Amino acid sequence: MRTILHADLNNCFASIESISHPEYRQIPFAVGGDEEMRHGIILAKNDCAKKFGIKTGEPLLSARQKCPELKVVKPNFELYDEYCTAVRNLYSEYTDQVEPFGMDESWLDTSGSISLFGDGIKIANELRRRVKKEFDLTISVGVSYNKIFAKLGSDYKKPDAVTAITPENYREIVWGLPVEELLFVGRATKAKLNRFGVKTIGELANTSENFLVTQFGKNGRMLYSYANGLDMSPVRKLSQAETIKSIGNSTTTPRDMENATDAKLIFNLLSEQVCRRLRKHRLKGSVVQIHLRSNDLTSFERQMQLNAPTDISSEVCKAAMELLLSNYNFALPLRSVGVRVTQLCDADTPVQLSFFTDSKHQEKLQKIEKIKDVINDRYGRYTICPAVILSDKTLFPEYDPATVTSCFKSH
Ligand SMILES: [Mg+2]
Repeated sequence: MRTILHADLNNCFASIESISHPEYRQIPFAVGGDEEMRHGIILAKNDCAKKFGIKTGEPLLSARQKCPELKVVKPNFELYDEYCTAVRNLYSEYTDQVEPFGMDESWLDTSGSISLFGDGIKIANELRRRVKKEFDLTISVGVSYNKIFAKLGSDYKKPDAVTAITPENYREIVWGLPVEELLFVGRATKAKLNRFGVKTIGELANTSENFLVTQFGKNGRMLYSYANGLDMSPVRKLSQAETIKSIGNSTTTPRDMENATDAKLIFNLLSEQVCRRLRKHRLKGSVVQIHLRSNDLTSFERQMQLNAPTDISSEVCKAAMELLLSNYNFALPLRSVGVRVTQLCDADTPVQLSFFTDSKHQEKLQKIEKIKDVINDRYGRYTICPAVILSDKTLFPEYDPATVTSCFKSH
């Protein structure tokens, strides 16, 4: 029988913010978007805020109605990424099979580590103690014999707790839970199962597998095996972690973008951020994609192939502007835009020198970007940036990275 752990950092973003601001621990506190920027939602909250009924994903406005004294700070994804990576590295001292799930959760297969470190519960408790001591963060850990039950275990009791789900006790612990607690049971699947009178995981487990297959296709078989603890899917090795397929940023501006000059400011900003992240991951990309959403909320995407892969902001911005100008006439103002770079390759991959690119000029730009990174890392993000970014405070009021949402896309 395998020993699988699922470890989950509790209130991750809010807890990380509280490390440098211990005073936040005592008050209702949340991490969220900027209220004035029109895209403010709660991204994470502490237990104190939870008591007011504040939920993740809730608009800041409604959170404020529940708790007027709620303290909200803007997210700092780079900082969270650093902590989550460091915690994962700690996990990997116990097994090379560490599979990240989202930013702050991981599965560990410790089946082969028992003779070295003890059984699953012992390892789980050691991780819990070490994460607390070394990072001042808490985790909840589920210990089981498959990934699905391990995940349910880490949700079962938190914060700072370990729950073991075994072949002996799983009916008792798991089967009474609502069916939507099961991984990958989304809103539609839940509604359909509820229509058949299946409300708990136990009821799902006792539904005929054939019936589930007729209703859900091959997902029916998956649901049946998940509920009965028959999931056999392996925990991937950290080195086999999904590679990043694209890097993009998008933003909703404080006021609508009325023309190409407005859009150029924001494309410059987004290209700076996207390329900075490309360089941080030692990647280059050869396709630039833009996403446009007008103020009637219709949206579309356009993309173009570059002559050679790049991580240079000015090149990405130039491509983004070309796409914009040939595809949009500003009959309607834009409410939000995004820039994404795809078809990524390792930054060191040798490239075919093109007749059309001036490689000397590119080398120069590359050097400038490197120096820019060093200075901005040290003195703050927009210490050196294209002046156009700072030219209109009604579009970009402050040089604050958190006004921009960022996301990795791996498929
Ligand atoms: Mg978490």
